[in-house]
Amino acid sequence: MHPRLAADLAALPDLLDAARAHAARVLAGLDERPVGRAPDGVPPEPLPVDGIGTAGALRRFAERWEPGFSGSAGPRYLGFVTGGATPAALAGDWLTGTFDQNASGGGDSSGAALERETAGWLRELFGLSEVHSGAFVTGATMSNTVGLAIAREWLGERLGVSVADRGAGALGEVVVLSGTPHSSTVKALSVLGLGRESLRLVPVLPDREAVDVTAIEEALAGLGGRPAVVVANAGTVNTVDFDDLAAIVGLRARYDFWLHVDAAFGGFAALSPDHAGLLAGLDAADSVCVDLHKWLNVPYDSAVQFTRHRDLQVRVFRNTAPYLGAPAGEPDFLHLTPENSRRLRALAAWCTLTAYGREGHREIVERNVAAARRLGDLLSSLPGVRLASPVRLNVVCFTVGADQAALLRSIAASGETFLTPTVYRGEPAIRAAFSNWRTTPEDVDRVFAALREALTGP
Ligand SMILES: *Cc1c(COP(=O)(O)O)cnc(C)c1O
Repeated sequence: MHPRLAADLAALPDLLDAARAHAARVLAGLDERPVGRAPDGVPPEPLPVDGIGTAGALRRFAERWEPGFSGSAGPRYLGFVTGGATPAALAGDWLTGTFDQNASGGGDSSGAALERETAGWLRELFGLSEVHSGAFVTGATMSNTVGLAIAREWLGERLGVSVADRGAGALGEVVVLSGTPHSSTVKALSVLGLGRESLRLVPVLPDREAVDVTAIEEALAGLGGRPAVVVANAGTVNTVDFDDLAAIVGLRARYDFWLHVDAAFGGFAALSPDHAGLLAGLDAADSVCVDLHKWLNVPYDSAVQFTRHRDLQVRVFRNTAPYLGAPAGEPDFLHLTPENSRRLRALAAWCTLTAYGREGHREIVERNVAAARRLGDLLSSLPGVRLASPVRLNVVCFTVGADQAALLRSIAASGETFLTPTVYRGEPAIRAAFSNWRTTPEDVDRVFAALREALTGP
């Protein structure tokens, strides 16, 4: 054994204590760490020849890279939709690396069974029935990609061709209908060989991001019976608008289409009795995407993919080799997702669900929704600020009637909070998205004070 490895092996418990103390220091200092920051120009260093051991590596990381890391795990990072990691999720993530199980199959460990249990719990959490089966993937982009890959196979089945065997070209023209899809849906269509141009944007309702269901019906009617894919959005990123899923499901009686629902973060509305109605109809979807590294507050990278059509899923992702055997009975995960070997990312989700349960996670969701409302109310009182839409869930989308880019830079420079820009109805706007388990009303007041100061001066 290389002497550095041997020395680290001998000192392993102390090294893990050092890493734990390091992590505890970082988290204790989260409140002082600038919430977002421009990437520093860290001068490159050559590939180490003689390493410096774990203690040296931790020191070097702290010197060179740590100062440029943001406080995105903290309570006032409101860019994109970015959760943090609950204590239990973080502990679960540590243990994931510690056990280093390969969750591709179930042959040598109960890791894959833990993933199945966790996917089952999540299914229940989001109000899906047992016909849905779930698998962990790296994020909502991959969950949308897997859902649409199964949709692609279904289209082939409808047209009498196997896309898995013959390729997407066998489908001819594919039509994907959506009102306000996330960019990852468009990316998925490119990755899947369906093409970005297969997406046909359907008009939305007046002053909304939710799709006009009569316009979907017209588009479907215009296809002359050709099967299509509808991507419904259950939580748009700008204004968290929800398509009327039940009405879309109702179109099934007359038209042949696969329904994929992108509920990346909107799926968490299911946890709050006041908002669960936004997801009525979700269970009837053929495939559903929910992100976990956002509102479940597990570390990156984690999302779940649900489908009612596991037979088609296996056709797409089947991975047979003499040493793997054919998928039979309960298929191994390597037959269900793009990866072969994969980490047991379910463990962090299992830990946070076990530690806090449905009620604990409901409390996070409702506190975040209340925080968004509070910020929306406070902002409405500022001259020049206008909410782009009512605060429907956990995002405040607003315009400032001033130099927006300069404002965002100045807010980021304050280190107090971090918000991201968007374009809403052709106008520049700002989003503040709440999804961190730590955020309190006091954090909202600090965010508001920083915004007010940036807009109107101290
Ligand atoms: C964040 C998000 C995605 C993409 O999620 P990643 O985890 O970043 O891949 C897809 N759809 C919606 C609605 C999202 O909010």
